[in-house]
Amino acid sequence: MQTIDALDSTLRSYLNPAQAQQVRRAYYFAEQAHFGQIRRTGEPYVTHPLAVAGILADMHMDHQSLMAAMLHDVIEDTGIEKDSIGSQFGPAVAELVDGVSKLTQMEFSSLAEKQAENFQKMALAMARDIRVILVKLADRLHNMRTLGVLPQDKARRIARETLEIYAPIAMRLGMNAVRMEFEDLGFSALYPMRASRIKAAIRASSGYRKELVDKIRHQIESTLEQEGHDVEVIGREKHLYSIYSKMKSKKKSFSEIMDIYAFRIIVDSVDTCYRVLGSVHSLYKPVPGEFSDYIAIPKANGYQSLHTVLMGMHGVPIEIQIRTREMEEMANNGIAAHWLYKSDSHSANGSHARAREWVQGLLEMQQRAGNSLEFIESVKIDLFPDEIYVFTPKGRILELPRGATAVDFAFAVHTDVGNSCVACRINRRLAPLSEPLQSGQTVEILTAPGARPNPSWFNYAVTAKARTNIRHFLKHQTREDSVALGKRLLDKALQAFDSTLEQLPEDRLQDYLANNDYSALEDLLEDIARGNRLPPITAQQILGEFVEPSESAERKLQPVAIRGTEGFMVTYARCCHPIPGDPIEGYLSSEKGVVVHRERCKNLMEMRENRERLVALRWDDQVQGEYLTELRIEVENRRGMIAVLATRINSMGVNIEKISTEDKDYQFTFVDLAMQVTNRVHLANIMKRLRTVNSVRRVSRLKNEAPARRVKPGANR
Ligand code: MN
Repeated sequence: MQTIDALDSTLRSYLNPAQAQQVRRAYYFAEQAHFGQIRRTGEPYVTHPLAVAGILADMHMDHQSLMAAMLHDVIEDTGIEKDSIGSQFGPAVAELVDGVSKLTQMEFSSLAEKQAENFQKMALAMARDIRVILVKLADRLHNMRTLGVLPQDKARRIARETLEIYAPIAMRLGMNAVRMEFEDLGFSALYPMRASRIKAAIRASSGYRKELVDKIRHQIESTLEQEGHDVEVIGREKHLYSIYSKMKSKKKSFSEIMDIYAFRIIVDSVDTCYRVLGSVHSLYKPVPGEFSDYIAIPKANGYQSLHTVLMGMHGVPIEIQIRTREMEEMANNGIAAHWLYKSDSHSANGSHARAREWVQGLLEMQQRAGNSLEFIESVKIDLFPDEIYVFTPKGRILELPRGATAVDFAFAVHTDVGNSCVACRINRRLAPLSEPLQSGQTVEILTAPGARPNPSWFNYAVTAKARTNIRHFLKHQTREDSVALGKRLLDKALQAFDSTLEQLPEDRLQDYLANNDYSALEDLLEDIARGNRLPPITAQQILGEFVEPSESAERKLQPVAIRGTEGFMVTYARCCHPIPGDPIEGYLSSEKGVVVHRERCKNLMEMRENRERLVALRWDDQVQGEYLTELRIEVENRRGMIAVLATRINSMGVNIEKISTEDKDYQFTFVDLAMQVTNRVHLANIMKRLRTVNSVRRVSRLKNEAPARRVKPGANR
């Protein structure tokens, strides 16, 4: 059991004697106020506030927070008034204690309640002084550690609340160590059987794992040592709850999750982070698409690190995090790690500044916002950047992920509403279905009987519910899509014979269908779209053997327009990454339907022998969507260059999907970037901006292009 004397030595290690003395005074006050009260553990009640203050002292929180921790249950449990705390310990401490008491009175018993009043009170209390939340988190942490003494139903309720409310808040504040303890304790209390099964499995696998972990760590260490990096390599073990959630959400088995080996590399500077990244990428092959640069673009809670995944020996996946010691501190304790910035004169560097900005931002918002509702909305955005809250016309609150659109909203209301949705009003104004929703908006969905989901919704529906429903619908709907595409393809082929589907003599068409065992024209069109039957040959067969392609028709031949909304019947070749604006040509694949290539793609050249499978294509004027493309950037070997490039690209609102590097020589490096763009103009703008970056020598698009065909001199004469 902790004593005030033991705590005192921690206090004196970072507070001045007068501050430490005030904390002690608060302890004696609490001891007296709670006199005679006993916890369920059998200990005097004051051991609880003392332990809470101890948790905060370990985070090096300021003396007022610690005093508030000592006094946090005094108003609630002993009837002592806020005013008398104020006169004894000052208004700041009284406000903190009052804030914590108000949070404690809240019970998040139902989802509706959580969304409505309670959540708002919490946000308000939090913004008034964020230390209220830190004291409350420490209070909850100690209660979770002593949860075993409570009756089971109460323990389960507290555990659930911890998982649903407090663990996410700890995460938003970047307090990972607290979050993980919340999750493990909460999970064990809520699902004791599952927890003990996973614990046993971890024990059973630990011997075999340790050997491999040591081996990989040794390889990484010696490689980095040879290259002169002074680093610390830590093998990371997944915590209980993260194993469980991965098993649940990704439907993976225990061994699949444990087969991933995770390491953290702590280095001395930001530059070294990137250099170490290069070294580990040359040691093991990186898995494409798994690199994330949270140094250039920190997470909303201030978290910074480089993340990558490598393929180790025997194909073992290895997750690597690379960060500086300061970033590590921030990752574990978040905002609490830097609470003392006010008394810390020498440092106003990155993480400190961010913590200060975070708090400052909240306070400024409070002052700026005219009414409290508006204020709450803005606080919510800062606190829960991944979720938005929108109202139905009847005032129900729906929670959606950030970036969600009216389509997601419609499916969240009801599947039938989603399926028959045609338009929406956002705050009573007609708006496109693709417009991302903002917290606080009222959304009304307009439906029409017989309306159908549109394949283009796939471009902006983000929730699993909407996507699953659209996909399900389209599976049945694909036939209509295929028939429409097949019609366009066949029409185009008929043009070569100066004909169209409409102009075809009915009897000739019916003969053809009968002779080829088609019961309806739609069946034929669907077959064409699926690549099972080739349009030029079909056109010729329908018209009869004796029809020659007309020369004049061939000249006015219209290529088929690609709109980007065709759904499953049109795919974009991964070899040459066509984007709107590129000259394109299609290849009819019997598995994938129409595959769009760039006109001069090498792979397409090789497929040219199958002339009848080629389709002339063009981009529709109204083409929609984003398309993957790849750039190669030649840069001087300079530290931190990848971060500079990534930041520049991100500042243009462009998503990077993959980064890889390849040293060209001692002076230059190739950086290959895969990203999503809307068209060639968009891409050209990005390239132009990148060329203005210092140390960038050349920016070019990766093409997979065949060399231009040579024209023999004099051939035309
Ligand atoms: Mn308490």
